Amino acid sequence: MVKERARILVVGGGYVGMYTALRLQRRLKRELQRGEVEITVVTPDPYMTYQPFLPEAAAGAISPRHVVVPLRRVLDRCHIVIGEATAVDHAERTATITTLATEEEGTGGQRLPYDQLVLAPGSVSRTLPVPGLADHGIGFKTVEEAIGLRNHVIEQMDIASSTRDPAIRDAALTFVFVGGGFAGVEALGELEDMARYAARYYHNVQPEDMKWILVEASDRILPEVGEEMGRYTVTELRRRNIDVRLQTRLESCADRVAVLSDGARFPTRTVVWTAGVKPHPVLAATDLPRNGRGRLTCTPELSIEGTTHAWAAGDAAAVPDVTAGEPGRECAPNAQHAVRQAKVLADNIVHTLRGEPLQTYEHAYAGSVASLGLHKGVAHVYGRKLKGYPAWFMHRAYHLSRVPTFNRKARVLAEWALAGLFKREIVSLGSLEHPRAEFELAAGGKPSQDPPDNPKGSS
Ligand SMILES: Cc1cc2nc3c(=O)[nH]c(=O)nc-3n(C[C@H](O)[C@H](O)[C@H](O)COP(=O)(O)OP(=O)(O)OC[C@H]3O[C@@H](n4cnc5c(N)ncnc54)[C@H](O)[C@@H]3O)c2cc1C
Repeated sequence: MVKERARILVVGGGYVGMYTALRLQRRLKRELQRGEVEITVVTPDPYMTYQPFLPEAAAGAISPRHVVVPLRRVLDRCHIVIGEATAVDHAERTATITTLATEEEGTGGQRLPYDQLVLAPGSVSRTLPVPGLADHGIGFKTVEEAIGLRNHVIEQMDIASSTRDPAIRDAALTFVFVGGGFAGVEALGELEDMARYAARYYHNVQPEDMKWILVEASDRILPEVGEEMGRYTVTELRRRNIDVRLQTRLESCADRVAVLSDGARFPTRTVVWTAGVKPHPVLAATDLPRNGRGRLTCTPELSIEGTTHAWAAGDAAAVPDVTAGEPGRECAPNAQHAVRQAKVLADNIVHTLRGEPLQTYEHAYAGSVASLGLHKGVAHVYGRKLKGYPAWFMHRAYHLSRVPTFNRKARVLAEWALAGLFKREIVSLGSLEHPRAEFELAAGGKPSQDPPDNPKGSS
């Protein structure tokens, strides 16, 4: 029984948003039925993206619709609003929301009142003012980007296969990835593996013709798996002929030439930018406290510091890591923390509504697993180090156990089983991104296309 009626607003439908709302709708089932509680989730997409599966989606090992979880089905007792929070006035307990309808109506944002706020818009790619990056760079945070990149890579192989110009061929077959964290290493590992496999179906493109380059500013990659496993990953990637350049930065990618700080220059049509994340910019449009890096400053109970009834977790939140034994240390922005924080956050909202004491968030980082392509991986979990096939198997087993809903688990498992029986898919369906192009041409119009080096329009 809650003490007073509560309207809970959850901003974001990712890890934190979905898991918080899911737990709230379970724990407040009776209150929801009696109308004492109302949960509204505002999110730009009607699905939650299981980001650790994006590299496998890019490699074609998992269909795009199986790496996302439909929010309306999972959160069937919540109101789902497809839109974006553009500002939050916590002093007034209101958020400003824009939806597709408000855009069409031209009415501007709607003000949505709430009693409890969960602010979880996650993060966006952290870019730098590198010349040409905004025009040519490709991100790797969304399912659209992952599938766009897959189509783009296969299309580059098609271009290389059909040109007689060595300069065009060379640029098409050069793939530069910037950033040696999870996203960059896994995306490169999976896509190189897929392209190497696909090359057997091209009469004039050999795996040796392709240049795969990983550029990392620090002296190591994959810090999440520890120093030793990071070194192993460098050796393993180099063994596959991948050019790993440590202590190197991308200085420019203007005019389709990647210029590196070590003086190397690579004409290329593919620069994938995975050099870290920063908190979502919407946080700047709130009256809530943020730290120097723009994350919401939180207490160990996951409320936003100095406020009541405002909560945050995940990539957008600076949550003290109470297990670190070092004051000022924050939890890293990863799914491992996001999922566990969501559980404590939801429980603390329930405790607040019932007038009970709050819980503290406490989780010691357990380590990580990463896939480097089919049957290749690296892991460092609970002190155990694994490489090659066992690490890859562990990666799959772990993420299968973690992907939300039994429905998704069954679909992903079925896809993996089928891929083991049949050959890998190597088709590019980039034309899906322009479904009207053919009809526009038939009707005498001019097909609208994005620039050719934009992955969303390139294939
Ligand atoms: C390619 C890749 C691989 C990864 N692999 C791993 C891994 O193996 N292990 C691991 O631990 N972590 C991994 N991560 C990191 C992990 O996915 C993130 O830490 C986690 O998603 C953070 O959860 P979140 O809820 O804070 O943000 P998200 O899951 O990103 O959710 C944020 C949500 O907020 C929505 N949103 C944004 N702006 C607004 C707005 N204005 N209004 C309303 N909604 C908004 C977004 O659309 C999104 O739905 C990976 C990340 C990537 C990109």
